Amino acid sequence: MEVTEIFGSNVFNDKVMKERLPKEIYKSLKNTILQDSTLKPEVADVVANAMKDWAIEKGATHYTHWFQPLTGITAEKHDSFISPTEDGMVIMEFSGKQLIQGEPDASSFPSGGLRATFEARGYTAWDCTSPAFLKEDAAGNTTLCIPTAFYSYNGEALDKKTPLLRSMNAVSKQALRILKALGNKTTTKVTATVGPEQEYFLIEKEFYLDRIDLMLSGRSLFGAPAPKGQELEDQYFGAIKDRISAFMKDLDIELWKLGISSKTKHNEVAPAQFEMAPIFSTTNIATDHNQLVMETMEKVALRHDLVCLLHEKPFGGINGSGKHNNWSLGTDDGQNLLEPGNTPEKNEQFLIFLAALIKTVDKHADILRASAASTGNDHRLGANEAPPAIISIFMGNQLTDILEKLAKGEKASSTEKTYLNVGVDTLPAFPKDNSDRNRTSPFAFTGNKFEFRMVGSSASIARPNMVLNTIVAETLDEIATRLENAKDKNAEATAIIKEIVQQHGRIIFNGNGYSQDWVKEAEKRGLPNVKNTVDALKAFVSDKAIKLFAKYNVLTEEESHSRYDIYLERYAKQINIEAMCAIDMVKKQYIPAIIRFETMLADSVAKVKACGINASVQEEFLKKIAELLDSANKKLAKLEENAKKCQEIDDMVKKAEAYRDLVASSSLKELRADIDALENLTDKNYWPVPTYAEMLFKL
Ligand code: ADP
Ligand code: MG
Repeated sequence: MEVTEIFGSNVFNDKVMKERLPKEIYKSLKNTILQDSTLKPEVADVVANAMKDWAIEKGATHYTHWFQPLTGITAEKHDSFISPTEDGMVIMEFSGKQLIQGEPDASSFPSGGLRATFEARGYTAWDCTSPAFLKEDAAGNTTLCIPTAFYSYNGEALDKKTPLLRSMNAVSKQALRILKALGNKTTTKVTATVGPEQEYFLIEKEFYLDRIDLMLSGRSLFGAPAPKGQELEDQYFGAIKDRISAFMKDLDIELWKLGISSKTKHNEVAPAQFEMAPIFSTTNIATDHNQLVMETMEKVALRHDLVCLLHEKPFGGINGSGKHNNWSLGTDDGQNLLEPGNTPEKNEQFLIFLAALIKTVDKHADILRASAASTGNDHRLGANEAPPAIISIFMGNQLTDILEKLAKGEKASSTEKTYLNVGVDTLPAFPKDNSDRNRTSPFAFTGNKFEFRMVGSSASIARPNMVLNTIVAETLDEIATRLENAKDKNAEATAIIKEIVQQHGRIIFNGNGYSQDWVKEAEKRGLPNVKNTVDALKAFVSDKAIKLFAKYNVLTEEESHSRYDIYLERYAKQINIEAMCAIDMVKKQYIPAIIRFETMLADSVAKVKACGINASVQEEFLKKIAELLDSANKKLAKLEENAKKCQEIDDMVKKAEAYRDLVASSSLKELRADIDALENLTDKNYWPVPTYAEMLFKL
């Protein structure tokens, strides 16, 4: 099949709706989707029936309300279409009510105290702005999946999607006010757009199954570095191996079927690391799609006897994985509000939106940082890896120059395109981009969008985008009010831009974000540098944040608290799993293996000596191993003791802090150091688990 035929073939998209729905129904549904109005029950019945017929023709027997609880992954409960008839047979049925609303038992999903467990009622409601799709599994099941929002009996959001949709409304409304105030008469809707680039690792399935740390905690808790890492820079954009290419081809096809516009694929920096980037779409669709991307990557990898690792830091000593969240604002008449055009210094609308982002990111750097906080991401942010935990904006020299001039009240110079000449006549003369790139910045302006690079590879992008949309909405709201009240809009716009650059220009940093100098400089500028999840999450429940999310109807105070509690609890649980895993491996795998090797050496010493020969090599190894083993055993005891202490703490904040201080940043690391040192002394044939060299290079 041609790609154009494959694309969207498993999606109940606009084309299918047009073909299968009566004109009036189609129009009404389209209206609901575009205008965010409520769906009429009689329309829903017709849509449900058409959807069912389409799904059955494509082999579906079941449907599910597909939702995104606060676990960060998706959930589904399958119901078949069968409905009994009087003659003891069944017909395939699907009503409008079943399409619009579901009622899964909510008691086993985290609610962060929003509901007691005995209050089990939870509802799912169709989000018709994200199209229904068919999921196929290897067992031959095809299921109609209906993207839904998930909330409690009292209407509190129990999921990631509801607040995300609310935040899209907030930012849209405020952006539109600015456009109107600046004289725009054509735009009726603004939508936050997102293109998430997904990084991932692939390793041999057989190795994965031999490592319970990877299986249970998602990352390798032990492992001496391979003799070669990423220092030769030969993996990034390197030629893609056939085996990986076969995986990527399958992945593309599966994603295209789901209407996910997988566009770019390449090798990433670390060995065995790769990336896929889709074409951007609206925030909620991008979020749904990214969940499907992660799920599909894991599924397709298995077909190739590979395992896809989405953890932020599956391997120590080499790069971890992120999810660059490209974000912009688009209008229904085709404008990108962050497009500078050829003469940005004269583009008032662009400068206003750019300034709005500067103010927003400076004012709410803490909430933005919190939006990317997770257990896995602590190994990236603030741990000498990309990007740093300090939030700053990369703007590029040209725009920085324009903004600085505007702040001083000077006229910004013309920025006519210059052409790049590389000194080879046969190469085309390229227009030079407005700015160079900066890979070290956590929040980089990249031509006509911002790239938020802090987000972790395994995270749902719902949280960062919910935050981004809401914090931006607040600034746009303030600017809109000023513009609406001003007599001379242009003068007011200039004044706003000037003021913002003067007051918030400190957030702009075009230099090397990895350098120690920046850490010092950022401190001087008063920018926060929050190095771990437990501290970062506090920003969600600050007065400022609670008021902000409540004001824009994105999260009620209770909903904000519930998220904070859930994320903290999750942190504690994940570190506990890591500790339990490490203890298990050391006790049941590493120590027994090392003892076997030690015994072999001791036998050798005795036997060699019995022949009257010098056994100093064996003795030397034996001594080093015995010392390290003794040390490892003490550290194991320490880890067990510390984990127990953490388990006994009731207060969730104290518990999470204890896991951070007593386990994650201390006893777990210390135990690893000894085991990794022992790995370097032990005969490979005795080592009980696959090594870094095997996992990263045998592909
Ligand atoms: P880069 O080279 O800067 O990474 P790409 O063109 O490869 O730029 O885009 C990276 C990601 O950014 C892609 O997923 C792309 O779809 C997305 N993107 C491009 N334009 C926008 C936009 N206006 N809004 C959101 N995402 C965008
Ligand atoms: Mg990019």
